[in-house]
Amino acid sequence: MAYFSDRSFEMGREEALELLKNGSAIELGERADAVRRKLHSDRAYYTVNAAITYSNICEVLCPICSFSRKEGQEGAYLLTPDEVRERAKKFSEMGAEEIHIIGGIYSKLPFSYYIDIVKAVKSADENLNVVAFTASECALMSRVSGRPLGEVYAKLKEAGVSALPGGGAEIFEKSVRDKIAPDKLSADEWINAMRIAHSEGLKTNATMLYGHIETPESVVDHLFRLRELQSETGGFKAFVPLPFRRGASKIPAKSSASYDLKVCALARIVLGNFPHLRVPITHYGDRFAQVLLNFGADDIGGTHWREEVATAAGAAPEDRDENFMRRAIIAAGFEPVKSNSNYAV
Ligand code: SF4
Repeated sequence: MAYFSDRSFEMGREEALELLKNGSAIELGERADAVRRKLHSDRAYYTVNAAITYSNICEVLCPICSFSRKEGQEGAYLLTPDEVRERAKKFSEMGAEEIHIIGGIYSKLPFSYYIDIVKAVKSADENLNVVAFTASECALMSRVSGRPLGEVYAKLKEAGVSALPGGGAEIFEKSVRDKIAPDKLSADEWINAMRIAHSEGLKTNATMLYGHIETPESVVDHLFRLRELQSETGGFKAFVPLPFRRGASKIPAKSSASYDLKVCALARIVLGNFPHLRVPITHYGDRFAQVLLNFGADDIGGTHWREEVATAAGAAPEDRDENFMRRAIIAAGFEPVKSNSNYAV
């Protein structure tokens, strides 16, 4: 399925690689902006959402991750379905319309736990849109329950999941993936998990974690593999580039605004068959997200409130409330449009 039918914007692998290596950010930005304007004119999307991270216990322990803890390690936690419900209720009262749920890879959790936490969110407010679980978590559910992945997705959908967030793609290229996330799903497994989700009618995003040890070749490879899968399934809503932050990880981080501009602009051009390019304001900051709206992006992501905020009595929802999102978009010269992860406006 080609979302964007004007193929004159499409770029081949060699040209993409050359531009990423030696092209100017401005040149790429102009081309990306032409694609972005053709698809979305001057509209820019945002979501009023919140995140519930049900557990940080993880058995995979990717070198790139600062978030995970081993079972029993100080700081490790696991929320009960009741705690998830309580948080969802608070977020709903604060005005959130969508809840993102992700956690670590913890094989002691039965499949029923995941179903229960999704139902817990829906029981707090049935109108909350639930975007939940990475491909790795869904593969784990398949393993612990002995159900094929398609059945796992069907059950999650039945419980109230309306889309998958698309995390865990990292970088597909093996030599890089082996260093940053050696024990995670392989690239082929991630791609196949998305293929099955799309065939079950679940729309997903696709992420790319960049700004660490990847090469220009691995970025281009990642984008073209996503473009191929989208041509086959049409199930991706948005591409979401994620700049790596080192945190406690031993993997070094590259930090270059010019590289960020080029990666985002290149993605918009190569992924002409993806409806949206989301640059999460939580990752890029409001000023840089505003700039990226002129380099191919059409979506600054969600308010992404977190539990610390919900539990702080009377606290304002950080500085990112709906007005903040709208003002950021207007200040950048675009028209704000509130949506959810399925781009229901
Ligand atoms: S699987 Fe996810 S939570 Fe676990 S270590 Fe890797 S990135 Fe962190």
